[in-house]
Amino acid sequence: MSSTKSNSKEIKRIAVLTSGGDAPGMNAAIRSVARSCAYYKIQCFGVKRGYQGLISGDLTRLGPRSVNNIINKGGTILKSARSNEFRTKEGRKKAFEVLKENEIDALVVIGGDGSFTGGLIFQKEFGVPVVGIPGTIDNDIYGTSHTLGYDTALNTVVEAVDKIRDTAISHNRLFFVEVMGRDAGHIALNTGIGAGAEEILIPEEDMGLERLLDSLKRSKNSGKLSSIVMVAEGDKIGKNVFELAEYIEENLPDYEVRVSVLGHMQRGGAPTCFDRVLASRMGLKAVESLRDGISANMIGISDGKMVLTPLNKAIKGESAIDRELIRVSEIMRL
Ligand code: ATP
Repeated sequence: MSSTKSNSKEIKRIAVLTSGGDAPGMNAAIRSVARSCAYYKIQCFGVKRGYQGLISGDLTRLGPRSVNNIINKGGTILKSARSNEFRTKEGRKKAFEVLKENEIDALVVIGGDGSFTGGLIFQKEFGVPVVGIPGTIDNDIYGTSHTLGYDTALNTVVEAVDKIRDTAISHNRLFFVEVMGRDAGHIALNTGIGAGAEEILIPEEDMGLERLLDSLKRSKNSGKLSSIVMVAEGDKIGKNVFELAEYIEENLPDYEVRVSVLGHMQRGGAPTCFDRVLASRMGLKAVESLRDGISANMIGISDGKMVLTPLNKAIKGESAIDRELIRVSEIMRL
């Protein structure tokens, strides 16, 4: 297995933090880390506000009862933050001093690839074992088929688009719905299929304006009176959702076009059962990996099994979209 195994001392205290953008399921993962630690008689500490809280020593003891009633909550009870200070060696040194003072032996980082980059640099510099849990709604991390929060975000988007569809049908409108995904089209592609979108625009595929226009013309001629176009934030055509809508309205005056940007509502809400189970499994695996002397790795899920990916690979690798889904979406819009 490609993992960093160290013969270092027994792990007696673990700290856990959430960093980068929040995602549903982060609380369930914090709960899992705290309870898995309790099971193995390891003391668990929660770090507030990500790496910034680590630098300022904002730590709180997390016993099994401190994480009651959070499995169903969105966001993160530990709060998240972006820390520029942690990007500097001096900042990371301060963080290390805090861990030393509190006799903490290892760190679980719940976040995205930026958080893992910081964690890996920290481990290399100061020898603190770090394990990552992927928490981001975008699902844009290599080494796992699902990140925490992704499934919840998919369900949130589908629910919202179902509602938009009601008004689209009532007024014979064409809706452009923008969803998150600057670099990856997982959310747009899956929710586009799930919500029955006419077209799906993603960063991985350049559909081109002409094809979009043709497709919408065809759909109108085939008798469709209303349509939904799902647009990932970073779609490859390179126009934002308002510019796209304007272009279509100018070139297809028959359509009454509207735009809906779903924005931050995609991040919030109670995690789905899938995300709660995933978080529970990942938290346990993170603690057990550290106990087994494995670090500098990210916990992931592949074919339903927990897997480890070295952090440097998880950071550099690309989380490719499932091209079979593109084919499915093309056939479904007939
Ligand atoms: P999201 O996917 O939601 O953006 P992320 O984990 O990628 O999550 P970032 O803002 O990129 O979010 O990173 C979170 C934090 O990780 C940063 O604020 C910083 O403290 C730390 N970090 C990121 N990159 C580095 C780096 N190169 N060196 C040290 N620390 C870093």
